Amino acid sequence: MKIINPATEELIKDVQEDSQTSIQQKFEATKKAQKAWAQVPLKERIACIAKFNELMLANSDKIAADLTAEVGKPLDQAKGEINGGVGRSQYFVDNSEKYLAEEWAVTEGGTKEKIVYEPLGVIANISAWNYPILVGVNVFIPALIGGNAVLYKPSEFSTLTGLNIADKLWEAGIPKDVFQIVVGGKDAGEALLDLPLDGYFFTGSYRTGKYIAERAAGKLVPVGLELGGKDPMYVCDDVDVKAVAASGVEGAFYNNGQSCCAVERIYVHEKVYDAFVDAFIEEAKTMKMGLPTEDGAFIGPLTRPQQADVLADQVADATAKGATLLLGGKAAERPGYYFEPTVLTDVTHEMKVMMDESFGPIIGIQKVKDDAEAVELMIDTPYGLASSVFTNDQSRAERIMAEMNSGTVYWNCCDRVSPTSPWSGRGHSGLGSTLSHHGIRAFVQPKAYHLRG
Ligand code: NAD
Repeated sequence: MKIINPATEELIKDVQEDSQTSIQQKFEATKKAQKAWAQVPLKERIACIAKFNELMLANSDKIAADLTAEVGKPLDQAKGEINGGVGRSQYFVDNSEKYLAEEWAVTEGGTKEKIVYEPLGVIANISAWNYPILVGVNVFIPALIGGNAVLYKPSEFSTLTGLNIADKLWEAGIPKDVFQIVVGGKDAGEALLDLPLDGYFFTGSYRTGKYIAERAAGKLVPVGLELGGKDPMYVCDDVDVKAVAASGVEGAFYNNGQSCCAVERIYVHEKVYDAFVDAFIEEAKTMKMGLPTEDGAFIGPLTRPQQADVLADQVADATAKGATLLLGGKAAERPGYYFEPTVLTDVTHEMKVMMDESFGPIIGIQKVKDDAEAVELMIDTPYGLASSVFTNDQSRAERIMAEMNSGTVYWNCCDRVSPTSPWSGRGHSGLGSTLSHHGIRAFVQPKAYHLRG
């Protein structure tokens, strides 16, 4: 498999893809190793993860360089991802004992009852490339702490990062057969679906997630899906327009818009619409496009070349239906998979840019007359990952947040994930939760003990 640098289109490395046979062998090895791993005291399993965190930080220059080379995110964002990933992982180190301890439900009387949390067994983690460390950590860290073995398939677009992660986990003391990396793309993923695993945890697109859920359904094992989004942001008429425009630009364009919880559409109250659009364009123009290794570069290349066609199609569809193109709108004229940051106004929900996940540096801004119209448009989507509202009035924000059908709601912030809160999508954005105590318990199964003695 060829690993290509999306900023230069140059070959970084050739790596050996896993075959059906090697995946089967890895499965058999993990199946054997898992039982012994589950017997390792919880404190020792957690200590391995604490060591992994140290190793990730100690080697962050090399890990960030590989991440930037293969996905094209600016180097400071790659370093930020490593720090963020270690922060999440540390949350699991600090909190897993509390949430995995046995719980006494009944301690008096003739029959006592307790709940014990047992691992699921061998699970698959089929992962995405946009934040390969963060989204991986959501799954394999609590899974390993919970006593599971993991067959981890990083995205074919972030294989080097996947290999670095595996290397650091092994160095930290996780046995090789407890954490196995499966290298490859769709075919390797399909091979995992053919195996009799004890759980499937997937991060990626709605299309693949739905397919995986259907394929795994007959196995009657847990399936967790962290999928795409079309996150709305609503700007009320009582805000500091310049500051909110800066938040909107960051939310829409950080990581080149390739974030599951990127701001993907903006609704602005008519009273501040013109001022907001002006401030947004002014702010957007300050973003520097460049090689991801260049100082100050904020806009790097798209990770996958095919996404440029999706974005160009959204621009063509929107402008044909009456949208105004205020910025960008096409692939940049330079080597690499660069697309100009793009802003469209006069948009409607008849346009793909307001309905389909863009996953790139493109945003539609729509004028609304009041909160009711904003809410109606915000929830007009099959997705339900996150929604944000910007206003100086807390009760107004709370009324609007209560109307959202999304796993996360933000007041005066956006595009953020915290390890202490559950991360979950509704509708086409996914199934189940990671992070928080929900994300610790997602990788274990409760056993109820009824004890008479
Ligand atoms: P993708 O669906 O194309 O691929 C995801 C993974 O699935 C990859 O590892 C891929 O090799 C594998 N895969 C592809 N076809 C398969 C098949 N038939 N069987 C088994 N495995 C298969 O998604 P992507 O492009 O890697 O990621 C981008 C998507 O992920 C976006 O929609 C984004 O919003 C979403 N995402 C969601 C979250 C979240 O937390 N909700 C986080 C990150 C990314």
